[in-house]
Amino acid sequence: MVKAEGVHKSFGQVEVLKGIDLEVRAGEVFCLIGPSGSGKSTFLRCINHLEKINAGRLWVDGELVGYRQHGDKLYELRDREVAMKRRDIGMVFQRFNLFPHMTALENVIEAPVQVRGVNRGEARDRAVQLLERVGLADRAGHYPSQLSGGQQQRVAIARALAMDPKLMLFDEPTSALDPELVGDVLDVMRDLAESGMTMVVVTHEMGFAREVGDSLVFMDEGVVVESGHPREVLTDPQHERTRSFLSKVL
Ligand code: ATP
Ligand code: MG
Repeated sequence: MVKAEGVHKSFGQVEVLKGIDLEVRAGEVFCLIGPSGSGKSTFLRCINHLEKINAGRLWVDGELVGYRQHGDKLYELRDREVAMKRRDIGMVFQRFNLFPHMTALENVIEAPVQVRGVNRGEARDRAVQLLERVGLADRAGHYPSQLSGGQQQRVAIARALAMDPKLMLFDEPTSALDPELVGDVLDVMRDLAESGMTMVVVTHEMGFAREVGDSLVFMDEGVVVESGHPREVLTDPQHERTRSFLSKVL
């Protein structure tokens, strides 16, 4: 579903991604861990067309990110083409970025109607189902300011799912939450994983990575240091840098 080969990304003189190679298979939960500043968010943003890579190749669902291939030539995608591709990728951020002036239900309805042209009645029925799925059927009429952080984050997940994404990206979805609210969000993510969704999850929740993850990558300073099955990497890390990181977070 996602394939990276030698992905480089710099901001000015600063090289943030220094040749990332990895592969996310369809249907798997792929966890990405690493210290602050190691490039995790940048990599997710590259997958989601929010950053342009400087070298290497990146594919999502078999298609090159940012380019169209014609023969052996590559053409940069136009903004409209990028927007089309981004429809298929759901992203949930650390900070719940719901539209503040819309209710939970309206937040979930908005994109399918505006972007996909789904009729409002259909979008509404679907939104009700999705809010139910994330355990918020009774909060449909609430505005974000009337919801807890955990509830807002679950609305954000429902909103992303309303677009029927092929791939869901999570960037530390629980790290801004009060500890007692984390579990509900992780439960929703676990259900989503069980439904077969392909998920790339940047997280510090090692319990989630161990129990739900299919693959885990430890990144440091813009490179993949170690990867494997979460249980293997977490219980028997092969590299000193991984060990030192895990000793701080576990
Ligand atoms: P954290 O765990 O703190 O979220 P991260 O692994 O997600 O860290 P990134 O946000 O990807 O790290 O940032 C990696 C590096 O890239 C950092 O040094 C950051 O300052 C730099 N960086 C990120 N975005 C930009 C930008 N738009 N312009 C300049 N530098 C940037
Ligand atoms: Mg980050």
